[in-house]
Amino acid sequence: MKIAFFSTQPYDRVFFDRENQDELFVYQFYETHLGPHIVRAVNDVDAVCVFVNDRVNREVIEVLASRQVKIVALRCAGFNNVELDAAREFGIAVCRVPAYSPEAVAEHAMAMLLTLNRKTHKAYNRVREQNFSLNGLLGFNLHGKTVGVVGTGKIGKAFCRLAKGFGCELLAFDIYEDAQIKELGVSYVDIDTLYRCSDVISLHCPLTLENKHMINRESIQKMKDDVVLLNTSRGRLIHTAAVIEGLKQHKIGGLALDVYEQEEKLFFKDLSGIIIEDDTIQRLMSFPNVLITAHQAFFTEEALTQIATTTLRNIEELLLGHEPSIDGARLV
Ligand code: NAD
Repeated sequence: MKIAFFSTQPYDRVFFDRENQDELFVYQFYETHLGPHIVRAVNDVDAVCVFVNDRVNREVIEVLASRQVKIVALRCAGFNNVELDAAREFGIAVCRVPAYSPEAVAEHAMAMLLTLNRKTHKAYNRVREQNFSLNGLLGFNLHGKTVGVVGTGKIGKAFCRLAKGFGCELLAFDIYEDAQIKELGVSYVDIDTLYRCSDVISLHCPLTLENKHMINRESIQKMKDDVVLLNTSRGRLIHTAAVIEGLKQHKIGGLALDVYEQEEKLFFKDLSGIIIEDDTIQRLMSFPNVLITAHQAFFTEEALTQIATTTLRNIEELLLGHEPSIDGARLV
């Protein structure tokens, strides 16, 4: 079973090699993104394995089909970057890793909130410079604050549990209500109430056609002054120009991003020493109350192991003509 991996990093090889001890699979690893620019190089493979920033649009799918590729295997949960209708039309199966470690992402979201609030990243550098002053490091207690969670699926639920542990009041918005979430003591409210009443808002819903730029000028104006926004879900949920305006107006008190609208050209690469042409991320990075990580919320030992195991199992089962045994793994 031959697989071409795109957007690979050294750690992908380590984890996928570890799960291929019996050499059932033959791998080709490419560092480049999959997209129209490179798809014609795909040859003699049964499956392509892609990640969050690969562009699997109609054009790419058509070429893959002409090269007898049978499967597009996402080694992530979100699938907003794949045109599923086109895959269906060209008879290519699409699978993903629906749940690898919701805790990995939820814990990173909480880590970002704690860092942003208590400024441990600044304190760490200060103390190393023998600056033991506390000026500028003031935070607030999370205990008793209202946290609004948008999307209470696997990651949102794990985040709710963590926030509960900190003694926060929890509000949630989802298009489906979940009984377990209610048992946790979380109250479902409409999105405007969540915007109006939350001190912290954390996004855990997938990116869809409907919710692109859900955080925009209008929604920001509905929020509390000094609101802290967390996005570990997908960059395009936030209209970046609007949050920059909100930060400049002192409306937004803190912003933690693990994902970014235009991350494709930046994230997962070492660009130190290179002039970055994206002025928007440069502006974001210039705010003292903005914390950015480069799509690393999933990046734990447990999650990478699970991603490799599930991806290979999906591919094997599909190539053998079976339905994937993991619930929600098959998209097309
Ligand atoms: P999930 O499918 O378990 O849960 C998503 C929830 O969002 C569901 O309850 C769904 O009903 C809800 N939802 C869908 N559309 C909505 C809308 N318009 N408004 C409010 N709620 C809506 O998914 P999950 O495993 O919890 O993952 C959530 C998202 O996190 C993924 O789609 C992905 O974009 C992102 N993610 C990011 C990382 C990272 O490393 N930063 C890693 C994994 C997943």
